[in-house]
Amino acid sequence: MRSGNSGLPVTVTFFFLLALNFSICDAATSGALQTQIPAIWYAPGSGPSASNTFYILTPGGQAVIIDTSGSSQAATHKTWIQAIPGYVPPSYIILTHGHGDHTAGVAQWRATGNPVVLATAMNQDQLDFQYRLTGFFNYRNAADGGHPPRVVQIPYPGDYGAPPFATQTFTQSYSFTLGGLTFMLFSAPGETADMLNVWIPELRAYFIGDNWYRSFPNLGSPRGTRPRFALDYVNSLNLALSYNAVMLLPSHGAQVYGQPTVASTLASYRDAIQSVHDEVVACLDAQFGSVNGCQNSNGPPTIEWMMQNIVAPPSFTLGESYGRVAWAVRAIAQDYIGWYLIPDGATCSMCVGDAENLFPSSLDSTLSSLDSVLGTGKNDGFITTSMAATAVSEGQSLLMSRGSAVKAARLADIALRNNSADPNALNLKYCALNLLANLSNNFTEKNWLQYNVAAVLASLGTNAPNCSFVPAFSAPAAAVQLQ
Ligand SMILES: [Zn+2]
Repeated sequence: MRSGNSGLPVTVTFFFLLALNFSICDAATSGALQTQIPAIWYAPGSGPSASNTFYILTPGGQAVIIDTSGSSQAATHKTWIQAIPGYVPPSYIILTHGHGDHTAGVAQWRATGNPVVLATAMNQDQLDFQYRLTGFFNYRNAADGGHPPRVVQIPYPGDYGAPPFATQTFTQSYSFTLGGLTFMLFSAPGETADMLNVWIPELRAYFIGDNWYRSFPNLGSPRGTRPRFALDYVNSLNLALSYNAVMLLPSHGAQVYGQPTVASTLASYRDAIQSVHDEVVACLDAQFGSVNGCQNSNGPPTIEWMMQNIVAPPSFTLGESYGRVAWAVRAIAQDYIGWYLIPDGATCSMCVGDAENLFPSSLDSTLSSLDSVLGTGKNDGFITTSMAATAVSEGQSLLMSRGSAVKAARLADIALRNNSADPNALNLKYCALNLLANLSNNFTEKNWLQYNVAAVLASLGTNAPNCSFVPAFSAPAAAVQLQ
């Protein structure tokens, strides 16, 4: 049981002996479990998505809580912890971050006395973010977490004003001593910007919050989240590694024991995140051609291509039971480049963004759904030659009748997915984008359109563009009509 603790300092050994006086606990009656460092207890969350409440009983007979569990278990966890032999109410509550599965029990614990509630200065920002998107997250969390949505009275309660939890905050680091133990807290952004970690040097115990769990991290949670920057994770994991902890205590799941195991566990996690991050960046930086092993014969490496091809290194063995590497790839890429995505090369082999995507989609519902089904590129076989010809002819008719040039460009894209070198489709796209460029009243939009007009012209090669079928337009009324 304690094989990983052979390197414990004398003080820790003392705590072991001290704690033995009150460490005999019947788990059936309390539910709280004692870790291999007897001063540290925890109420385990049930299942991988429920979090732990930690209870540290100092040699001086005072107590600290770290995290307070989610709404379904907070009360039970409190009951379990209050049954720990030698229990005293906590003097401090430390919140690793503002997610609801760590904060639901704060009010109940505050009712036990007047504990100081500690969090980072970013905690309120995290709470306000969740608060202002109450209606959105109600359903997204339900879908994501496998539980029914709540009844929400006020879906948008305002931009600020989430009820605060913390009574004391800090920016970078904060430490206090209590009952013979030192609690060192520091900002450790990762899963959230407000994440903090706790290091107790006398116990060589490191509480890592949600910056480590037994899966590839959810860098891009489908439920929606602010960016979880990969390099923040890497930096925070390096910080964790620097303490040479003998016990790693994640807020989800069981502890990791033994300095070598803790170190290799953290390093493997860090290296996997760094590796995936670096591959995404290499692909973003290799828009044309093959650089740093990022290859995409179909044009610039798209995010979809990266999602299909970038994997965690073989040294990473924790799997993807919670986060997925493909989601992380998408999140990392979009954190860097934003909403305007890289085209797949089928619709414009030399474009770095499809200019028609600067406009709200204006295809009719049938074509919109067709467009979204096509997705991945010219070789998917969804578009037949006759479908392509129809799309081009419809697009030409649109331009001839002074209809939407954006629609015409999208119809050209459909045909280009059958054959990215189709001269009639390229000509249609050229004429549509050229029209939009000439009429654009926006600096950025006009530049993108002109860039793509030149790219399409290059794709036309020796086929000179012919837009004589397009009637003359006069701005600005036509500019609205064209979109
Ligand atoms: Zn959590």
